[in-house]
Amino acid sequence: MMAKFQGKVAFVTGGSRGIGAAVVQRLADEGAAVAFTYHGSEAAAQTLVTRIRNAGAQAVALQVDVADAQALTRAVNDAARQLGKIDILVNNAGVFSMGNIADVPLETFDQLLDINVRAVFVASKAALAHMGEGGRIINIGSCNAERIPFPDLATYAMTKSALVGLVKGMARDLGPRGITVNNVQPGPTDTDMNPASGEFAGGMHDVMALRRHARPEEIAGMVAYVASEEAGFVTGASLTIDGGFSA
Ligand code: NDP
Repeated sequence: MMAKFQGKVAFVTGGSRGIGAAVVQRLADEGAAVAFTYHGSEAAAQTLVTRIRNAGAQAVALQVDVADAQALTRAVNDAARQLGKIDILVNNAGVFSMGNIADVPLETFDQLLDINVRAVFVASKAALAHMGEGGRIINIGSCNAERIPFPDLATYAMTKSALVGLVKGMARDLGPRGITVNNVQPGPTDTDMNPASGEFAGGMHDVMALRRHARPEEIAGMVAYVASEEAGFVTGASLTIDGGFSA
């Protein structure tokens, strides 16, 4: 049987660690050629590339700060030149920050917007120049776009809520081109950003139906579904996968 993503090219931002690395691995396992970005984690990025190439698939790692619009656009163009096109864009790179709104510095607010929102717009525009019928744009949002049961999350939640509006509008704009645009909204997921053994883990589990963190591979499974041909009628949606955090 042909692998699900045989002949497809994916571009994933923030593929060096956590959810992004699991997405890169899953798409490559199912036959995609994958280009991904990293920022600081060069060794982890190279390890992932080597693992994928040793398994016989194509992988390219590109170093870029997604807050730098010109550099991000160059990276997308570079990936398309090396791999021929882009069928699947996964906007995953993101940063988290907590703070009472009375204390959050303007610089933090700007940084969250630049990385979690502006970079999604920039990468999507760049990828669209290389994307045809059947294309997929998938953003990693957050269950905090829907529900914020704790203090100190206003600015982070705002960035993920912004993506809800962005995908609805983009889905309308790109439907005529046969391109779908969606958010996958994870709940607590065991990564460096939110370790299952972290100080806030117990409090999060208390508000969940399933009292545990997700594994990054579980989020990658949802991304793989949305990226697949089978999901061709799913667009403009924000699909929550949060163990009942928002229930
Ligand atoms: P991690 O902190 O584990 O990994 C973040 C990834 O993003 C790394 O690959 C990192 O690259 C990259 N990255 C961060 N900043 C930049 C930047 N300026 N330029 C380029 N790359 C950057 O996070 P997660 O895997 O947990 O999170 C991934 C996404 O999932 C984020 O959008 C996050 O908001 C979202 N999310 C996570 C949840 C969780 O509980 N973990 C829950 C809900 C949503 P490098 O290491 O190379 O610097």
